[in-house]
Amino acid sequence: MQKPLSSSLQPALRQSRSTAAGPASRPSSPGNPQQAGRDLSGFAENVGVALSWLAEEGTILWANRAELELLGYSAEEYIGHHVTEFHLDGIAIRDLLCSLRKNEKVHRWTAQLRCKDGSIRAVTISANAFQDNGQLVLACVTLDLAEQEAPSEVHQRLAAIVESSDDAIISKDLNGIVRSWNRGAERIFGYTEEEMVGRHISTLAAPDHADEFPDILDRIRRGERVDHYETRRKAKDGTIVRVSLTVSPVRDATGRIVGASKVARDITERERQEQAVREANAALTQSNADLQQFAYSASHDLQEPLRMVATYSEMLRRRFDEKLGQSGDEYIGYIIQGALRMEQLLKDLRAYAQASIGAQESAEDADAAEILDQTLAGLDAAIEECGAVITHGELPRVRIHDFQLEQLFQNLVANSIRYRRSDPPRIHIAATRQGQVWQFSVQDNGIGIAPQYREQIFKIFKRLHSSAEYPGTGMGLAICQRIVERRGGRIWVESEPGRGSTFFFTIPM
Ligand code: ADP
Repeated sequence: MQKPLSSSLQPALRQSRSTAAGPASRPSSPGNPQQAGRDLSGFAENVGVALSWLAEEGTILWANRAELELLGYSAEEYIGHHVTEFHLDGIAIRDLLCSLRKNEKVHRWTAQLRCKDGSIRAVTISANAFQDNGQLVLACVTLDLAEQEAPSEVHQRLAAIVESSDDAIISKDLNGIVRSWNRGAERIFGYTEEEMVGRHISTLAAPDHADEFPDILDRIRRGERVDHYETRRKAKDGTIVRVSLTVSPVRDATGRIVGASKVARDITERERQEQAVREANAALTQSNADLQQFAYSASHDLQEPLRMVATYSEMLRRRFDEKLGQSGDEYIGYIIQGALRMEQLLKDLRAYAQASIGAQESAEDADAAEILDQTLAGLDAAIEECGAVITHGELPRVRIHDFQLEQLFQNLVANSIRYRRSDPPRIHIAATRQGQVWQFSVQDNGIGIAPQYREQIFKIFKRLHSSAEYPGTGMGLAICQRIVERRGGRIWVESEPGRGSTFFFTIPM
């Protein structure tokens, strides 16, 4: 089994064939070389540190007693075998041999060794290569991790943080071999630490995502980070996990990149919730649209029977006037009044539904000055009746449908006239540019609105007065709010009870 050793090792090997051969003649020491060689051979054999020599291709040439005891093998079971037979991670140990052959020194490289009794021992290996009579020999010092200096308190605390993290915290070398695996990783991907340490990270590859691994490792080799990269990985049970990855290079004490640390956050639940919100939103939008369509159709279709009620009540009154008597006439009056009021309510309801349904963006700008003139022309009779004085400042062109701007002016100016005090209304309409929006105002000197009602008045059917005091349906401001909000603006009121109100609305440019 054993490979022939170089000449300088032969005497030492002959000397102690029954145990294991030691590096008798190396390193040479000053003084009597023969004497120093003997001393060193005994020292190397018996020192309490595990030492071994390997041939350049990985065959174990020699191991001292401490190394054999550490793993529980006899010299025959260990020496002459290839080193990969004892390492859990064959790929990684081949890389290590490769580095040594290139004359790189290896310092405290962590590895896992298989003991004779089947247990696994975590160790660190420090090694270097040297030439021995034309043969390359690799000298290794193996230290049992468990017996190494106890980790400092800071290290323990950091380790506890990594262990208790909900995120997967994984380290891997530049070949993609997993070097550490915390409990978060076990929870997310289902593999235990024993199953994953030593395996390639591509064990987690999800279909169609396998080519990401070389890309990520390339970036790490170039010293780049990968930040919050959202992708998919496959867990042990085959389920696909949505993860957000942050991968950063890990450097050794000399600044050389030796691997990568990766934090993977499971975003499956977040994605599921986002999807649920998207679906709920779509369902809500659909049911809103259905409801608006229903309100529109209902208000339209109810108009017809209502007109019949009003028409036939009127006919009844004309045909049977005398027979009905005074009370009958009064009751028919109430029916007609009720029908007219309901007609107005349905008209407003339809306008409200329309403001929601027909809200496509206008292709052309509306000329606010022109629209205001049209609106005031329509309110002529009411203006004349109370002697209202209406003025306006310079008004812009705005991105809104003409009929919608007319509805806004119509409702707000009509309210300013209706909710007046005893003296003639003075109403001023203005517009100012505020950043990226046009802000319109309709100011009056009317009865004003108490602070507690300034939000409520925009709700549908919300009124502060009876129809006898001030006629109305309570829909005007709700319609205004709908129109403005559909255009991405807002509407509000500032008021001093008894002195007047100013309604503001904005329209984005
Ligand atoms: P309506 O005028 O048909 O009642 P609106 O939605 O237009 O419905 O207005 C809601 C309520 O807000 C009104 O009933 C009124 O009490 C109050 N309001 C609206 N505009 C004014 C105003 N310019 N001055 C005082 N109160 C107002």
